[in-house]
Amino acid sequence: MRLVHDADHLAPFAGCTLVPTMGALHDGHASLVRRAAGRGRPVVVTVFVNPTQFAPHEDFARYPRTLDADVEIARAAGANAVFAPPPEAIYPRGLDAARTEAAAIELPAVATVPGLEDACRPGHYGGVCQVVARLFDLTRPSQAIFGEKDWQQWRVLDEMVAALPARWPGLAMEVAPTVREADGLAMSSRNRYLRPEQREQALGLVRALQVAASAQQPATAERLMRETLGDHGLAVDYAVVRDARTLMPAGGFERPTRGLVAARLDTVRLIDTMALPVCR
Ligand code: AMP
Repeated sequence: MRLVHDADHLAPFAGCTLVPTMGALHDGHASLVRRAAGRGRPVVVTVFVNPTQFAPHEDFARYPRTLDADVEIARAAGANAVFAPPPEAIYPRGLDAARTEAAAIELPAVATVPGLEDACRPGHYGGVCQVVARLFDLTRPSQAIFGEKDWQQWRVLDEMVAALPARWPGLAMEVAPTVREADGLAMSSRNRYLRPEQREQALGLVRALQVAASAQQPATAERLMRETLGDHGLAVDYAVVRDARTLMPAGGFERPTRGLVAARLDTVRLIDTMALPVCR
C-alpha cells in the first residue's frame, strides 16, 4: 500500500480501479474498495476534500480530515494506493481560477434540471465534475466505483463520462449499494457531526424511504416521506419520488423510480435514497 501525494508517482497504477472520496472513510467507502479489490487491477482510493464543490456557507472548513485512519481503512479493504493530493496538484492555476472554471463547466441535464441537490447546492455539481474529471486525468483508471447513496451525483458523473468518450476511452462506471448502520442509518462522513440526541432523529431519513416503498402512488409516497421526516424533527429540503435515470418526476411505479430525501438537523445536512419497487 502506497500513500501518494505527487501525481507523478501514479504511473504504476494506470488502468486502476478508482474509488474517489473526500476521506473520513467509513465502512461504506471500505465496501467500495473491497468491491474493487481482487479484479486483477490496482485499486486506488483518492482522498481530497474538494473546495470547489462547497458553497461559502457549507462545511468545507470543518469537514473531517483523518488521513492516517483513512490510509489504514483503505489498506485493510485491499487498496494498493491512496492518492491524497495537495490542492495545488489538482488546481495548479489556484483556487480562484478553479472556482471560475467550475462555474463554466457544461453540465448534463441531470445536474441542473431536477431541482434536488442542484437546487439546494447551486454550483455543487460544477465542482464535482471538475474534480472527478481531474482525478480521472491524473489516475487514468479503467474503472471507477461510486456509491448509490449520492444517487444524483452518480447519475451526473455517469452522464459526464458518457458525453466524453474520447477523453477517458473504455472507462467503466459502476455504482455500488449503500452501506448502513445496524439501525438503518446510511453511513456518512457527516454522521460524526450528529449529537447523541440527533442520532435517533437522523433515522427519519431511512424510515421515510421505507414508508415510501409501501405507497401505491408517488404523490402518496412523497406525502408520507415529508410526514415521517417532520415527525423526527427534521427540516426537509426535499422528499421526492423520481425516475431513477433522469431524476424527473415519476407519474407511477411502472418504471424504476427512487425515493430521494434531504433534510437538516440544525447545521447538519443529510441525504439518503432507495430504489422503490416497480409496478405494484
Ligand atoms: P464521499 O467521501 O462522501 O464524497 O463519498 C465517496 C464515495 O463513497 C461516493 O461515491 C459516495 O457515494 C460513496 N459512499 C458514501 N457513503 C456511502 C455508503 N454509506 N455506502 C456506500 N457508498 C458510500
